[in-house]
Amino acid sequence: MEDERFYPYNLQVYIKRDDLIHSIITGNKWRKLREYLLIAQKENINTIISFGGAFSNHIYALAYACKELKINLHLIIRGDELSINSNPYLSQIHQWGANLYFISRQDYKEKHIPFDYDSASTLVIPEGGFSPIGVSSMAELSKEIDEDYHHILVSVGTGTTLIGLAMHLPNSLIHGILSLSNKNEIEENCKLFNKQFENILLHDQFIEKKYGKKNTELEKFCIDFFLKYNIPIEPIYTGLLFHSFFELVKQNVFANNSKILLIHTGGIK
Ligand SMILES: *Cc1c(COP(=O)(O)O)cnc(C)c1O
Repeated sequence: MEDERFYPYNLQVYIKRDDLIHSIITGNKWRKLREYLLIAQKENINTIISFGGAFSNHIYALAYACKELKINLHLIIRGDELSINSNPYLSQIHQWGANLYFISRQDYKEKHIPFDYDSASTLVIPEGGFSPIGVSSMAELSKEIDEDYHHILVSVGTGTTLIGLAMHLPNSLIHGILSLSNKNEIEENCKLFNKQFENILLHDQFIEKKYGKKNTELEKFCIDFFLKYNIPIEPIYTGLLFHSFFELVKQNVFANNSKILLIHTGGIK
């Protein structure tokens, strides 16, 4: 990636285009699901249960994968005021054959599964795919990355991608750009792996302050970025990642001659 803002520091900047993996199961959603789906195949699992919000990329990708693999899918959706007609993604997920259960936000917090199921033939995938399985699923992505990057930057939702990269690439400093105000949760998630993770740096200073309102500066950045580099990004994850990266460059965070990799985790649907 070329940009005149890198010249004063002689930064070498690369982008890993995981958004190009698949048009529906994009980026880290495929990276995370891969290991779960392999387990499902190996253990003759015919049913998957998972959780998500109404706009979750995770359940959208999972619904498509289960349709293709002919696995029964039950999705527990946050918000009992919703229905399959609440947005085009939920309608599409329903059309792909998933069963949707809309539960109250309170019940959702407890991750209550509102029906009986046979645990021998069912795999429960946690919200956003975060678990040791999701983290170890990042081995594949990590293998595709050279070991000599000084810095790797990635968007953070649950931290699955971040932690997986940090485990598999101990020689790089992994910068997690947080989109949600969940720094404590991410730190707890890191601790679950019993490591101090000296190679993780969390950035929560770029989180949208005016949550819910449109950030026109960030939207404009995404459009300008697309026009300049022909790479689509969106405000929630990857747009914020690239925007924050240029801020960090300006703040002189990266030493001269650093070799830097930005992971494009996808998310365009
Ligand atoms: C889901 C998602 C993330 C968050 O990934 P985690 O592994 O949960 O931290 C980041 N970027 C995009 C585009 C996503 O869809």
